[in-house]
Amino acid sequence: MSGLNLNNVTKQFGTFTAVNDVSLSVPDGTFVCLLGPSGCGKTTLMRMIAGLDLPTHGSINLAGHDITEVPTHKRELGMVFQSLALFPHLTVGENIAYSLRIRGVGKEEQKKRVDELLAMIHLPGFADRSVSKLSGGQRQRVAIARALAISPKLFLLDEPLSALDAKLREAMQVELRQLQQRLGITTIVVTHDQREAMTMADTVVVMNGGEIRQAAPPVEIYRRPADSFVADFIGQTNLIPFSVDGAGRATVLGEAVEGLSVSQGAKGMLSVRPEDVQLTAPGHGAITGTVSFVRDLGGAIETFVEAGGQQIVAVSSPRNRPEVTVGQSVGIRLDPETSVVLAK
Ligand code: ATP
Repeated sequence: MSGLNLNNVTKQFGTFTAVNDVSLSVPDGTFVCLLGPSGCGKTTLMRMIAGLDLPTHGSINLAGHDITEVPTHKRELGMVFQSLALFPHLTVGENIAYSLRIRGVGKEEQKKRVDELLAMIHLPGFADRSVSKLSGGQRQRVAIARALAISPKLFLLDEPLSALDAKLREAMQVELRQLQQRLGITTIVVTHDQREAMTMADTVVVMNGGEIRQAAPPVEIYRRPADSFVADFIGQTNLIPFSVDGAGRATVLGEAVEGLSVSQGAKGMLSVRPEDVQLTAPGHGAITGTVSFVRDLGGAIETFVEAGGQQIVAVSSPRNRPEVTVGQSVGIRLDPETSVVLAK
């Protein structure tokens, strides 16, 4: 079996379970982001993939070999971890060539590889520069080049961009994704930043409480969240309770709504993205509410509506600005196509 495979991996610290029975297949050449709130177990899972921690149960396979107990330095990994800072007393070139030198690669070959890698990270001619003279973004690029010097089987990055300011972080996300696509290297990134995950990943793995809640392409995670945790964690959403009576009639916020694909007697939550909430004249929508606040963000208008004791947010583009004022009564129409039914 090729790629990386995690089979029922569990990690316990004493009686506390940090990672609980996680199974995941990462095909060769794909980019996976482990995403979740603080303490959900993503770093612990990454440390086991890196060989820095041993699973309590389960196994890890890489390219068809069981590597569960193989030490880190024999796994042929490229790692960019926060704890692995650049060596301050070495130049950029010496930092990048470090793992080549300890593997006994010749001087000429080292230089050739360093030049190749510097070109790849858009820092040609930087080999003799002191790392203390680099900006934060340049430093992170050098750390990436250093990790890629040995052409690793697997590229692991733990919060690689979190120390950078927002603008640079966004630019580096695109750069990192393009680099990964060019090299076709299997890559796993830990992040708590959903935008970062959505920008870079083929597969976003959403974790909570040590478990995988959903592993899917970014658009599917956004459009078809598996449960209310994922729906709420990824982007903004309206979680609206619904119930269905014995005759199959659905009630949402006290009003009958038609067209939802729900089964008789069901109870749960609808996840409706703000851009999918349609505001209409009262009486024309299925639910009636009162506008409580309008926020004009320039690129988008957010309209907050109180309905059935709950606040619902609708987002529109400035071109489709709803003609509403605070205190006005409006209708809310839910589109069955974009209302995701979640079990409670
Ligand atoms: P963050 O985004 O804050 O880094 P995370 O999702 O990476 O969080 P982990 O670092 O994997 O979370 O930690 C998961 C849980 O395991 C946390 O509750 C943490 O306190 C606990 N934990 C991690 N390492 C140890 C350890 N060595 N001993 C005991 N508990 C640990």
